[in-house]
Amino acid sequence: MKASAQVVVIGGGVVGASVLYHLTEMGWTDVVLVERKELTAGSTWHAAGGMHTLNGDPNVAKLQQYTVNLYREIEQRSGQDCGIHMPGGLMLADDRERMDWLRMAQARGRYLGMDMEIISAAEAKELFPLLAEQHFIGALFDPAEGHVDPTGVTRAYAICARQAGAEIYQNTWVSDLRQRPDGTWDVITDSGEIHAEHIVNAGGLWAREVGRMAGLELPVLAMEHMYLITEDMEEVAEYNAATGHELPMGLDFSGENYIRQERGGILLGTYEQACVPWSPREAPWTFDKQLLTPDLDRISPSLEIAFKHYPALADAGIKTVINGPFTFAPDGNPLVGPVPGLRNCWVACAVMAGFSQGGGVGLTLARWMVDGDPGEDIWAMDVARYGDWASLAYTNAKVRENYSRRFRITFPNEELPAGRPLHTTPVYDRLTDHNAVWGAGYGLEHPLWFQRPGEEPREDVTFRRSNAFPVVADECATVRERVGLTECSNFAKYRVTGAGSAEWLQGLFTNRLPRAGRINLTAALDPSGHIVGEFSVARVGTDDFFLFGSQIAEAHHSRWFRGHLADGVRFDALGLSLVGLSLAGPGARDVLQSVTGASLATADYPFMAFRRIDVGMIPAYVGRMTYTGDLGYEIWVAPEYQRALFDLLWQAGQPHGIGLFGFRALMSLRMEKMFGTWFREYRPIYTPAEAQMHRSLKLDHDFIGRAAVEAELERGPARTLGYFEVDPDPAEPADVVGDEPIWHDGAVVGWVTSGAYAHYSRRSLAFGYVPSELAMPGATFEVEIIGQRRPARLLAEPVLDPAGRRMRA
Ligand SMILES: Cc1cc2nc3c(=O)[nH]c(=O)nc-3n(C[C@H](O)[C@H](O)[C@H](O)COP(=O)(O)OP(=O)(O)OC[C@H]3O[C@@H](n4cnc5c(N)ncnc54)[C@H](O)[C@@H]3O)c2cc1C
Repeated sequence: MKASAQVVVIGGGVVGASVLYHLTEMGWTDVVLVERKELTAGSTWHAAGGMHTLNGDPNVAKLQQYTVNLYREIEQRSGQDCGIHMPGGLMLADDRERMDWLRMAQARGRYLGMDMEIISAAEAKELFPLLAEQHFIGALFDPAEGHVDPTGVTRAYAICARQAGAEIYQNTWVSDLRQRPDGTWDVITDSGEIHAEHIVNAGGLWAREVGRMAGLELPVLAMEHMYLITEDMEEVAEYNAATGHELPMGLDFSGENYIRQERGGILLGTYEQACVPWSPREAPWTFDKQLLTPDLDRISPSLEIAFKHYPALADAGIKTVINGPFTFAPDGNPLVGPVPGLRNCWVACAVMAGFSQGGGVGLTLARWMVDGDPGEDIWAMDVARYGDWASLAYTNAKVRENYSRRFRITFPNEELPAGRPLHTTPVYDRLTDHNAVWGAGYGLEHPLWFQRPGEEPREDVTFRRSNAFPVVADECATVRERVGLTECSNFAKYRVTGAGSAEWLQGLFTNRLPRAGRINLTAALDPSGHIVGEFSVARVGTDDFFLFGSQIAEAHHSRWFRGHLADGVRFDALGLSLVGLSLAGPGARDVLQSVTGASLATADYPFMAFRRIDVGMIPAYVGRMTYTGDLGYEIWVAPEYQRALFDLLWQAGQPHGIGLFGFRALMSLRMEKMFGTWFREYRPIYTPAEAQMHRSLKLDHDFIGRAAVEAELERGPARTLGYFEVDPDPAEPADVVGDEPIWHDGAVVGWVTSGAYAHYSRRSLAFGYVPSELAMPGATFEVEIIGQRRPARLLAEPVLDPAGRRMRA
């Protein structure tokens, strides 16, 4: 065994093998993989090997496409048979909502180049004669679905990696991980120690236990999962003889099962409601290529439906039932990337669909390690999307919820209940008393809208407009015509202090730093000129700053700032040690002025001012800006003052007709002001030139990514963020939710990033990227909303107050 290596990958399942392979592909060959038993000994060996490209997140779908396309290559290069079968797959709908969902999935696939087809139930029956057509109303056929041999794939990765110089130690258990002061690691195994510059936790079923060796509690949990394989069936043999190929795969959402041909029989797996975690506190190290005892009673409700939907199965003998564990993160997506706060420690775990995702996970992690950047937008898989709040019990609740909803639709306006409320701010009870309907982001509850008194604070989930629509319209009118109050604690807040802070930040940010007492907006870029983050920068003193950014990206952005930290500079993520309330609307100044001695006249407290003042008796930092685009203030206080602040403002606002507004109204208000948002309009796949962030771009100073920006400005960006007015279907209006394709001249030319109905302006609006040559004011497009191509026009300026007079008033 080597005494040292550049990288030690812990775990020889399909994911660890893929990471090892991709590291060697990227040119790192002093890499080893350590496996406690033999390759595939965790969840990999008993997987059903199914794979598909469809995913709710288009960026993850792209990586799944990459994975599926990689198998032929590694098969050829390794000489190892991967057992690739590509019969295509059917996703079966039994009701209108699912049909809508399939249409939206098909639409999303269009700009990823996925060629999927909506077909009738009769056509589905022709492709898959075993199904009972009367239970379905239609289907989506995806030719890029198939299955592979899990062991073959894992070995193929391993062989290719070995050919390139990697070493693999099997029957070697990593028992401890110790970090040296220089950030390198001693990997302690039962066969000796390896000194590694980097470690990768690809421990699969034991990823949580491997994490604990490094002092981490990763949000990952294994669930039991069952599938059965029937004896050979005549119906299958007849189909094979008649068509000359195997049956396509099937996904029956209402039956919560998946089905495919396995040799001469059928493989049927279920995601049952009565799901059971495996080893919820600690996975046993003695578990070695084992299976769990099948429990057919647990899956019998799903089997009953399966026997109705595929009647021939009811008479088929069951040859085998497999029950095996595999792992999930709370949202079902993998955990990938550098662990925040722990140098040279990487994870590639919680990969629940190893055969759809393993290749993409290995590729992006290897790029991240070698190039310092994953090369793709992998936010949906970034380990930093969770913070410390994702505890063992939270993970348990969320993973069980996710497993049991695997085949359920999550609507764009749906908030899932498990593990909530967990994080709340002091005004939570006050806002609940005002009938708040709550949402959660990064674990924190925030008000979405306020139901009318006496009515149940609940939102109907739908792809169209919900019962919130008229209430949110009223909230928007309150802000635009009088004054609205909302909570704004769900921003990430950071404080940067210490000698050299200004110089440090200036080298990171595209905009010039504001003067003391002022705020401005800025972007931060990576060296290739892509957007790493978008922040409001408030300067308190020479070397004293507050930064405000996207809350869900708090750990993600903190990791980036800390990774670039200069000597002498202190960077703190403030979390809930600073909370906020925001006043917005033409009456905002009058309300605030009535409770503070500081003069709020524009001459004294102009737009984008940021000061430390007293509000009533409460010490506060007050910024004169709001995301509504109206006259407004964000008031930041320590949490112990937030209730008093709320009561004070609420009372003071009564003569001015104050009302509460929530996140839904905020999203509507920001749309009519043409304000983009992080993770939708601004993401690491876009550049500031594409995203039209010219006002935050000052080329008079040096910053990371500047050379790339200059080069792009010189040649012009290939695509441009457009602002569209969309005409919804008048019979059944639906607004965009994001990821809809944008059509022009009969072809898909771009995609929607986000949108909303702008209640106050009474217009349905959307943001989206289109080729720059088409991004002309007045240009006409179509946006595909739930299977309908709706007319859209590109607008040159905000639909409300383009000169920005309201916020400067
Ligand atoms: C019944 C069933 C059906 C499935 N069907 C599908 C399917 O159709 N399609 C699909 O994509 N996925 C499927 N899966 C999921 C799939 O199995 C997983 O996504 C995949 O196996 C994850 O691979 P991994 O490498 O992350 O984990 P694992 O396969 O668990 O690999 C982790 C490895 O790390 C080793 N290890 C852990 N700790 C240490 C240590 N301390 N020292 C040394 N070695 C260590 C373990 O021995 C193990 O070999 C299924 C799973 C089950 C249970």
